[in-house]
Amino acid sequence: MALYIVLVGVQGAGKGTQAAILSQQYHLPHVTTGGLFREMKTQDTPLAREIQRIMNEGSLVPDDITVQVVRERLQQPDAVNGAIFDGFPRTLPQAEALDKLLGDLGGKVNLVPFFNLDRETAIKRISGRWECTLDPKHVYNENSNPPKVAGICDLDGGKLWQRPDDTPEAAAKRIDLFFEKTMPLLNYYRGRGLLNEINAGQSIEAVTAEMISALEKAKAG
Ligand code: AMP
Repeated sequence: MALYIVLVGVQGAGKGTQAAILSQQYHLPHVTTGGLFREMKTQDTPLAREIQRIMNEGSLVPDDITVQVVRERLQQPDAVNGAIFDGFPRTLPQAEALDKLLGDLGGKVNLVPFFNLDRETAIKRISGRWECTLDPKHVYNENSNPPKVAGICDLDGGKLWQRPDDTPEAAAKRIDLFFEKTMPLLNYYRGRGLLNEINAGQSIEAVTAEMISALEKAKAG
């Protein structure tokens, strides 16, 4: 049975970090729409330029474009056994489109861990966030999860940088958008018995342990 997991949480709640752990442990691809859009930045097409503009101002990419990018990603051979979604879906229409997409593949969303974090802590965490230039899935935080050597990735030695949309203004906008557009998803998934709320203010290890225990239960049931 394919396993599809949707990680929900405000920016800074630790979705990327937990997705990387799950991806390794369950051998499933980490599907992050933000990452897929950032990869498109190297393309010089009108669509790629438009996406870059939207991202830099901290707005949301239109649903139809986002769903199309995910549809293409799920057609890659590494996604046959499922996927860990990070940053998608972010709106109700995206959640409905994902159900349809997975239905067409003979699967469904199996679990939705919700990493609950207050706005203030989220802003603090985002402004301390550093990402590896070689692999954007290697993410550090100068306060809660620093690299062993400042500015250098522990895993591959890549230089660390701060994302342009992690400026205080763009970060605040993204966080507001989360509470406005993404919070309604919680009811959608709660109503389907899929939501697993986790206090994201805990240590990385404690969050992982709760998430894996819920996942094992979901797999068994
Ligand atoms: P993230 O890395 O998840 O914070 O995403 C970075 C940016 O990519 C967001 O601020 C949006 O502009 C865009 N983005 C990522 N995922 C989505 C999505 N599911 N729907 C719309 N826009 C998205």
